[in-house]
Amino acid sequence: MHSKLEFDLIVNGGGLAGASLALDLAHSGFRVALIDVESYQIPGRSGMSSRAIALTYSSGIIFRRLGLWEHLPVDDITAIRQTEVTDSSMKGLVQLRASDVGYDELGWNIEARVIHEQLYRCLDESESVSIFSPAELTELTIDDSLVSCNVVSRNEESTQALNAKILVIADGGKSGLADRLGFSDRRRDYDSCALVCRVETDRPNRQTAYEHFVRTGPLALLPTGDCGYSVVWTLEPKESERLKVVTSEQFLEALQEIFSDRVGKFVELAGERQVYPLRYSMLKEFIRPRVVVIGNAMHTFHPVAGQGFNLALRETTELVEILARYRDRGWDIGCYDALEEYQNRRKRESLAVGSFTDGLIRIFANDSSSQSRLRNIGLDVIQAIAPIKRMLLMRTMGLHRLSPPSMGQDSKYEESA
Ligand SMILES: Cc1cc2nc3c(=O)[nH]c(=O)nc-3n(C[C@H](O)[C@H](O)[C@H](O)COP(=O)(O)OP(=O)(O)OC[C@H]3O[C@@H](n4cnc5c(N)ncnc54)[C@H](O)[C@@H]3O)c2cc1C
Repeated sequence: MHSKLEFDLIVNGGGLAGASLALDLAHSGFRVALIDVESYQIPGRSGMSSRAIALTYSSGIIFRRLGLWEHLPVDDITAIRQTEVTDSSMKGLVQLRASDVGYDELGWNIEARVIHEQLYRCLDESESVSIFSPAELTELTIDDSLVSCNVVSRNEESTQALNAKILVIADGGKSGLADRLGFSDRRRDYDSCALVCRVETDRPNRQTAYEHFVRTGPLALLPTGDCGYSVVWTLEPKESERLKVVTSEQFLEALQEIFSDRVGKFVELAGERQVYPLRYSMLKEFIRPRVVVIGNAMHTFHPVAGQGFNLALRETTELVEILARYRDRGWDIGCYDALEEYQNRRKRESLAVGSFTDGLIRIFANDSSSQSRLRNIGLDVIQAIAPIKRMLLMRTMGLHRLSPPSMGQDSKYEESA
């Protein structure tokens, strides 16, 4: 074994949340050990899925601050300028346009794989981050002033001892480490899955996203390229397995039946179809002495509102701000007060986003005709009343708590009153 390596933080899990946090920490001058069981070291070979991420406007600003935005290939980014929300009856319609609140775009559609690869490209260039991958954390001990562990490479050829002031758990929705450390959660299985893929149509997508609610849940189309869409289709598990293997023609027909000619004719199924089981889970506490949980390890939501990663980015931004303040004042960054401040600041929004997405599913994925009438009245009210629509737009863009500069400006954003 080599001599012990000293870090400020150990981040266990280098998915979208862990890798974004590591990059933000490195920008703020912290030394970081990033550990992942998967092999992510080589940019361009990320095993991350090709499913779409609808990145909010506020997340775009965070990417820009991290120097990540300019590394994203322009051809892989599609702006989302408006979203249309409809119920299966098509009677109610809400149109959320960025221009209604004076912006050019609500956000962007980018593949998770593309974001992940560029995160690792930036991390590889950083001298403050050491990546251990594929590797596993073992022999963890946490005392009053220090976190210590070993990192064993997956081929078990090498073991490295590490010390740090904080351990961050970022190992995703099935977090083994949070379980081992006694974190408990509230959870609910939706008994449904998201089938994701890419399709092409014979009409330009006008950079418009569609959120159409059918009996089984939302069916989302996010614009990609000129005439394409990323599909996120909530289905009962059996139906998702069936639609995963039917022929491309049968799949496109099923989609056409729901959308009729609203977006043109679906002409091509591009790439493979992937299925994700869906559930809600939220940890009751996000911290322990010298331990913080982030990302899906902390909360896993239904993708209906495209919030999981966007919320994680707001969490990591706030965590880094708190830690930098403690360090600059000469205080211990891993002291309980610092971690508690993070938990107190994040808990309200995490619970609110969780309840919002869970509530949407309860209200919209419902067969009853009285619920359907109420839904349509609700959609009409939102469409007609400008302040309510504006509030929803700001939430969709992730700007409800912040007054950010436009994408063209460089300064950090401030908290609004
Ligand atoms: C269909 C679908 C669509 C979505 N759409 C959106 C969207 O439009 N917008 C949005 O904001 N969010 C969206 N999300 C949510 C978003 O994908 C997640 O919130 C985000 O990927 C969470 O990142 P994470 O890093 O916390 O977890 P993960 O991406 O799960 O990463 C966890 C990492 O930990 C590693 N790991 C696991 N176990 C260990 C271990 N024992 N030791 C070390 N490492 C380990 C894994 O290899 C992985 O790299 C969507 C989710 C789904 C399912």
